[in-house]
This record gives sequence, structure tokens and C-alpha cells, in this order.
Amino acid sequence: MTVSQGPLPRLLAIDDSELIHRLLRVRLQHEPLEIHGSMDAREGLELARRMVPDVILLDIEMRGMDGFQVLQALKDDVNLQDIPVIFISATASMEDRVRAIDHGAIDFVAKPFEVVELKARVRSALRIHQMVKMLAQKAQVDGLTGLWNRTYFDRRLHQEVSEAVRHGRSVSLVMCDVDGFKRLNDECGHPFGDAVLERVARILQGGRSSDIACRYGGEEFGIILPNTMGTEAMDVAERYRVAIEAESWPGPAGRVITASFGVSDLSLLAGPQGSEDLIASADAALYRAKMNGRNRIEVAPLARPAG
Ligand code: GH3
Ligand code: MG
Ligand code: MG
Ligand code: MG
Repeated sequence: MTVSQGPLPRLLAIDDSELIHRLLRVRLQHEPLEIHGSMDAREGLELARRMVPDVILLDIEMRGMDGFQVLQALKDDVNLQDIPVIFISATASMEDRVRAIDHGAIDFVAKPFEVVELKARVRSALRIHQMVKMLAQKAQVDGLTGLWNRTYFDRRLHQEVSEAVRHGRSVSLVMCDVDGFKRLNDECGHPFGDAVLERVARILQGGRSSDIACRYGGEEFGIILPNTMGTEAMDVAERYRVAIEAESWPGPAGRVITASFGVSDLSLLAGPQGSEDLIASADAALYRAKMNGRNRIEVAPLARPAG
């Protein structure tokens, strides 16, 4: 017996032949798959947009919109473009097969097909899809701390800032930098420094689920707070500051590690309001926190001096 973890992968078949749908329903019923189908290309595309399946079986010859057009529409949609598409066709010429693969189909099966072969090709497509998803995830996560990495931070901040501007909402950014970290590394070794970063990351992850904690680089972290005003963001930063200071560490008793914070609220910035401006202002506030003695929080100035 195989034990599947999580929800079953979902297969969507888009084919105008009733026979194919019946065949798939009957012959794949014991596969660890959830089977969905549509006999109309446009409707199938709509269904794909709604359910975002894990694999798509696609016929070429259909009324109205053919399989190549459906494939193109899938590839044009950022939410669907990574879904593996297997063409199934009775009439396809070698030219069609090559065209299908060149346009991004992962595989091609000729009708009439052996179900065992189709099953194997579906399994293979699902494995590849799983791997692609895993790699995409890995590319956004910091290896040491498990927080979102800088690549993700940049993209997400840009997105959150655009949303906030569009909907007239607030978004705040908290930048956090561990104090005297270089000396800590020098005195205690890099493995200890790494352990500190992991522990700090866990603390910074302990906020609201809507808060997005990222490793900005080195011993610097950025926490994006959607729908949050500067005053609330300061409270959040203060909680983190206190938690980091209160943490106990291995080694000589009484070692205290601290961090400094810079906070900025997009809606309080004067002039342009892009993600770069939010980062720059939070950075400037963080710099002031360092200058003013560390283990403290500073907020970005409410407005830029005129002129
Ligand atoms: P300040 O209080 O002004 O922030 O001083 P600092 O020493 O914390 O800042 P500085 O920028 O001079 O040093 C940061 C250090 O962080 C230097 C670098 O070697 C170390 N570092 C960066 N990434 C890592 C990492 O992944 N692991 C460890 N252990 N150290 C790292
Ligand atoms: Mg057909
Ligand atoms: Mg630093
Ligand atoms: Mg530092």
C-alpha cells in the first residue's frame, strides 16, 4: 500500500471526445489522482484557471480553440505556465508533435494509447512538476535560517508596496541588524554566529502570520508588515528587540546579544513611494539606531525636508 501525503495531485483532461473522459475515469480511478475533465477548450481553460491542476492532458483537435491555442494561453498565464501539459492526439503529424514540445508541452501520447503508458507518463510529469515546485521554493528560501531570502524579499516588497499604493493601505518595513556581530564571530567562531542568526530568525518569525520575515543579507533581516502603520510596526520591533535581548545563549552565563531596528511606514514618506524608498528610509533609521547607541529602534522621519 502506498501512503500519499497531502492532497492528491489533480489531473485535468481537456478533450472533446466523451470516450476519452470515460476511459480516463474508469482506468485511472485507482490511481492516486483527482480526475477533472472538460469537453470544451475554453471551458477547460477556465477550469484550469480556477483549480490550477498539477497536470493537464490536452487534445489537439477541438472545436473553437485547438490544443495549441490552449497551450499558448496556459503558457501566457503566470499561474499556469509551470503546469506540465501532455498532448494526446490521434491525428498529430510529426510536425505537430515537434511543435507541441517546442511550445512547452512536456510529453506527447498518440491515441489510441495504452493506459499503462499514459499512467507512466502522467507519473513522470507529476514528478517533474514536483521537482520544479521544490526548486522554485528553494530558490526563495535562505538556507541557514529558513526565512525568505533576499530575492523573495525584493519581489514581495515591490508587490506589497504596489498593492498598498493601489488600495490606499499602509505597509511598513522593519529592518533589523544584529549588533557587534563581527566581534561575536571573531570571539566565538562562525558556527556560534550561525546559531545566533538561526535563533534571531526564529524570533523574527514569531509575529503575525501576515508578517513576512526575510533574511536581507549577512546579519540583517527585513520584516514586511502589510496593512500596518508605523506606530504598530514600532511595537512589533520593540517586541523583537526585547525578545532578542532576553534570549539566553550557550557559553559564559550572562552573555547578552542585541539588535538594532529601523522602521519605516510607506504612507508617512514624502515624495515617491516605491519599495526602494521604503528600504532607503528604513535603512537610514537603522543607521541612526546604530549611531544612537544600538539595541534600539528608530523610525524614519515623517517627511523629507522641503526643497
Ligand atoms: P554593527 O553593530 O554596527 O552592526 O556591527 P557588526 O559587527 O554587526 O556589523 P558588520 O557589518 O561590521 O559585520 C557583520 C558581520 O556578519 C561580518 C560577517 O562576517 C558576518 N556574517 C555575514 N553573514 C554571516 C553568516 O551567514 N554567518 C556568520 N556566522 N557570520 C556572518
Ligand atoms: Mg478532439
Ligand atoms: Mg550589518
Ligand atoms: Mg550588525
